[in-house]
Amino acid sequence: MADLSALTAQALVQIGASESLAALDELRVHWLGKKGVLTEQLKALGGLKPAERPAAGARINAAKTELHSAIEARRTTLEQASIVQALTSGRIDVSLPGRGEATGGMHPITRVRLRIEELFRNAGYEVAEGPEVEDEFHNFEALNIPADHPARAMHDTFYLEDGLLLRTHTSPVQIRAMLSRKPPLALIAPGRVYRCDSDVSHSPMFHQVEGLLVDTDVSFANLKAVLHQFMEALFERPLAMRLRPSYFPFTEPSAEVDISCVLCDGQGCRVCKQTGWLEVAGCGMVHPNVFKACGIDSERYTGFAFGFGIERLAMLRYGVNDLRLFYDNDLRFLAQFARG
Ligand SMILES: [Zn+2]
Repeated sequence: MADLSALTAQALVQIGASESLAALDELRVHWLGKKGVLTEQLKALGGLKPAERPAAGARINAAKTELHSAIEARRTTLEQASIVQALTSGRIDVSLPGRGEATGGMHPITRVRLRIEELFRNAGYEVAEGPEVEDEFHNFEALNIPADHPARAMHDTFYLEDGLLLRTHTSPVQIRAMLSRKPPLALIAPGRVYRCDSDVSHSPMFHQVEGLLVDTDVSFANLKAVLHQFMEALFERPLAMRLRPSYFPFTEPSAEVDISCVLCDGQGCRVCKQTGWLEVAGCGMVHPNVFKACGIDSERYTGFAFGFGIERLAMLRYGVNDLRLFYDNDLRFLAQFARG
């Protein structure tokens, strides 16, 4: 009993020096727990004379109370310190300079598509959309390509279940427009198309723009004028244009569209294979069978349609020599188109 004061003093020093809540709890168990130092002192009271027991018990209980208070005070101090620590270490200094995130930009394909849309909107065309998962009627049959037609083999179609397929061209959008509305119609339909084909100049997914004009007295001369003005507006320079007879099931007559080479001004270079001409589109007058499939009177109405690839025009406009660059997501390539 004589050393109770010394024990208490020792305990108070240890409590005051404890650096963590875990260490503090260990001290509590050591001094005040069921087998703690002061508890053992209480148990030893039985060895004292009865007359001495009350005073000794009171002194031990006073020491327990003192240690208990000291532990609670230390606990409060440690808890506050840990809160301050958490707040300080997690704080964001809003006055620090930013990390310089690079500014994104539109993909060159998107950029050219938007420009094509703007040019045709200015000419009074609307921009139409259609589903990328199509059926055989809209993608083939209504476009005068019946099941046994050899053109179906040329399309390398991705077929899905239940007679569905990934559209091989944007032409089904003109079918949907003619089925749902009556002429006059003037629209373009830009969008993704899909074919089982992949090499330096072909991608299984690429972008086309379909154009359609249907009205009374629409002529082949109108078609040539619209395409010529569009190509000159897109490339922002005077261009020569020529039409070569061709074949598409859904137009008659049909033609391939060439423009004078935008890289060598028709002088002859590697891109135009020294011919001075670039093939950029296909076009023609809407076939009477297509009108028939859409319930439009081909005796009263005529129309023209055209189609071109956005990748092809983007490559020529920006001087890109490999189609795959558009899909590699190389930021060094894409960053060149981020502005301007
Ligand atoms: Zn050339």
